[in-house]
Amino acid sequence: MPERLESESRKLLGRLREALASDSEGQARLNRVVDLIASSMQAEVCSIYLFRDAETLELCATQGLEQDSVHQTRMRLGEGLVGRTAKSGSIVNTANAPAEKGFRYMPETGEERYSSFCGVPIQRLGDVLGVLVVQTKTERVMTPDEVYALEIVAMVIAEMTELGAFVGEGAALSALHQKPVVFRGTMAQEGTSAGKVYLHEPRVVVTNPISDDPEGEKARLNEAVEVLRKSVDNMLLGARSVDAEQGQVLEAYRMFANSSSWMRRMQDDVQSGLSAEAAVEKEQSLARARLSKSPDPYLRERLHDLDDLSNRLLRILTGQGEDRSDMPDDPILVARNIGPGELLEYGKKLRGIVLEEGSVGSHATIVARAWAIPLVINAKGITREALNGDTILVDGDQGIAHLRPDETVQNAFRDKIAMQARAQERYASIRDLPAETRCGNLISLQMNAGLIADLPSLEGSGADGVGLFRTELQFLIRNQMPQRGELSALYDRVLNAADGRRVAFRTLDIGSDKVLPYMKPNDEPNPAMGWRAIRVGLDKPGVLRMQLQALLRGSAGRPLAVMFPFITQISEFRAAKAEMDKAVDREIRLGHPIPAKIEVGAMLETPSLAFAPDAFFEEADFISIGGNDLKQFFFAADRENERVRRRYDTLDVSFLAFLQHVIDRCAATNTPLSFCGEDAGRPVEALCFAALGLRTLSMRPASVGPVKHMLRRVDLTEVKDVMDAAIAKGDQSVRRAVSDWLVYQV
Ligand code: PEP
Ligand code: MG
Repeated sequence: MPERLESESRKLLGRLREALASDSEGQARLNRVVDLIASSMQAEVCSIYLFRDAETLELCATQGLEQDSVHQTRMRLGEGLVGRTAKSGSIVNTANAPAEKGFRYMPETGEERYSSFCGVPIQRLGDVLGVLVVQTKTERVMTPDEVYALEIVAMVIAEMTELGAFVGEGAALSALHQKPVVFRGTMAQEGTSAGKVYLHEPRVVVTNPISDDPEGEKARLNEAVEVLRKSVDNMLLGARSVDAEQGQVLEAYRMFANSSSWMRRMQDDVQSGLSAEAAVEKEQSLARARLSKSPDPYLRERLHDLDDLSNRLLRILTGQGEDRSDMPDDPILVARNIGPGELLEYGKKLRGIVLEEGSVGSHATIVARAWAIPLVINAKGITREALNGDTILVDGDQGIAHLRPDETVQNAFRDKIAMQARAQERYASIRDLPAETRCGNLISLQMNAGLIADLPSLEGSGADGVGLFRTELQFLIRNQMPQRGELSALYDRVLNAADGRRVAFRTLDIGSDKVLPYMKPNDEPNPAMGWRAIRVGLDKPGVLRMQLQALLRGSAGRPLAVMFPFITQISEFRAAKAEMDKAVDREIRLGHPIPAKIEVGAMLETPSLAFAPDAFFEEADFISIGGNDLKQFFFAADRENERVRRRYDTLDVSFLAFLQHVIDRCAATNTPLSFCGEDAGRPVEALCFAALGLRTLSMRPASVGPVKHMLRRVDLTEVKDVMDAAIAKGDQSVRRAVSDWLVYQV
C-alpha cells in the first residue's frame, strides 16, 4: 500500500478511536464516525446501515443523505445495493449505481444526486452485522487502497458494535447479547434442564481494535505467531510418534501456521492501524465468510484449519479462554459441534448441550444419550449470540433452547422440570419391580451401552442386562486403533460391572456415519448402504479376528454373547460365525480358558434377513432387531435426514406386519428375539411391540423407568385388540387408536 494512504488510514483510525472513546451516546458516536469517514474519503455521503432483525437493514447514521431518513429508511436483505452487499457479504463498488442490476432508490434519502456507490459489509467472524456505504456525486470507482481502508474501518465498526459502543434507541441499535432469544433446533436427547451457558470455545473479546503503535503491535503479533508455531510443532511431534496418518493431517495445519501470505496480510493490517488482535480477527472473518460459501470439502477443511489457528492465536494474544476452571455449577455446554472424545472429557457434569450443528446419529449424540443429558442440535446462531454465564433453558423434548428467557418462560419451565422430577420419583419407586403386565407377561427390559461409564446405569435404571453393547464407541473415541490387550481388559471390566447380568456385545459397526478418525474414509455415494459393519469385518477380517479374540479373553471363562451387525443373508452369518469358531479353536490351542457358554447372534437390520431360509433362524443363537437401520431401509427414509426421518411412523401397520413376521419366524424355531433400536425405549411403541409378542426390549437406561411404568399398567391382550381393530378399520398407523385407549387406562 502506498505510504501516504497507509498513514491516511492510520490517521482516520486514530480519529475514530477518539470518537469511539468519547463518553457520548451511541447515536452521537455513530454520527461522528460517518462524518469522519466521509471527510477522510473525500466523499459526499457516508452511511451506516445495521440489522434491526435478521431480514431488515435500517439506516442508522448518515453524512450527506437526508437526516430525516435516519431510522426511517429500511430495506430487506438482498434488496437494493445495500441489501445485496449484506446478503452476499462482499463489496459492491460501482461508479454508476443507478445502472447496476437490482439498484433501488430510496426517495426519502435524496440519494438520487449521487452516482458512485461503494458498500462494504460490516462483519465479524463471518457474520454480517450491517453495511458501510460511501457515495459520491462524480462517477468514481473506489481504488483498491480506498476499499481496503474502508474494510479496515468496517472491521473496527463491527468490533465496536459487538462491544456495545453504538447502543441507542430502536431495534437496530439495541444492545447485543441481552435480549431473550429462542433457538428452534432438533431434539436429539429428551429431557429438560436449566443452567448457565458454558461455551466450548469461549469467544475472545477484542477491546482494543485500533492501535497507534504499529511497530509495537507487529512485535506482539510476531511473538504470538512464534508461540503458536511452536505449539503446532509440538503437537505434530506428538502425533507423528503415535500415528502417521494423523501426522499428515497436522502437517497441513502446520503449513498454514507458517504461511507467509497469512502473516503478511496481518502485518499490513497492523501497519494500517489495527491492533494485532483485530488483524487476526479480520483474517478469521474472511476465512469464515469464504467457508460459508465454499462447497468444496477440501477447501472447507483448510478454511476450518485457518479458523482454528486464528482462535488459538487470539487466545495467545489476549490470554482469554485459557482458563477452564470457571465452569459454573449448572453448565449447559454450547458449541458449534463437538467430538465424542471432547464430550467425554467434560464428563457427566454437564446439565445440557446445545449444538449449532451435529446430527441425531453422531457419536457425540450417542454419548449424550447414554448419559441422558438433554441435547438440542441444529440451533443455528447460538454460538454467536450466547455469552458465558447467560441463563439458558434446554427443552430436549421439543428441540428448543431459550437463551436469557424472561420470567414467564422461566416459571413455565420450572413447572415442567418439577413435573418431570415427580415422574422420575415414580420410576425410581418401581425400579426393583418386574416389568410384568396386568395379564402376567414378563418383559425383559435391558439397556443399550457403549462405554464403561454407562454400566453404573444398570443399577440405577433397574435394567436386566445389556441388550446392545456398541463396541465401536471405544474405537471412535481413540485416535488410533486399540490393541487387543486393551480391548480384552475393557471387556473384562464391562462384564465385571455387569456382575453376572448378560451383555450382548455387538462387533464393530463402522462405516456409514461412523468413520474412525484413523482409517481412510471411503468416498461412497450412499454410505448407509455401503461398505459397513459385517461387510468390512468379512472383507478385511484382521480387526474382526482381533476383536473376537479380545472378547473371548475378556470373558475369562464367563458366559459370552456376541452379535454381528448388519447381517443381510445366511451366508454372511455363517462366515461370521466361522470366524468365531476359529477364534475359539485358537484359544483352546493356546490353552486359554474359553467362555462357559457362547451365544452367537445376528442383528436384523435389513428386510432381507426376515426372509432368510429357516436354517438361519435355527443356527442363530439369538436375533436382535436393529430398528433404527431396519426402519430406514423398510421405508427408504434416511435416519439422518430430518426431512424424511419422521415421515413414517414405527406404528405404521405395514411395519408392524413386518415385525409380526419376524416374531413368528423366531417363535417357530424357538430363537430368542429382542428389539434394540431407539423405538424400544418409547412407551407406546414398547407396548405395541410387547402386544405383538416381543419379550425383550433394549433401550437407553433413562427409558427403562417410563417403559416399565407403562407396561405394568396394561393388559397386552387388550392392547392387541385395540391394534387389530385399528388395522381392520384401515388405519395407516395404530398410534392414534392405542394412544386414545391409553387415556382411559389407570
Ligand atoms: C439399530 O440400527 O437399530 C441399532 C441398534 O444400531 P445403531 O443405531 O448403532 O446403528
Ligand atoms: Mg444399526
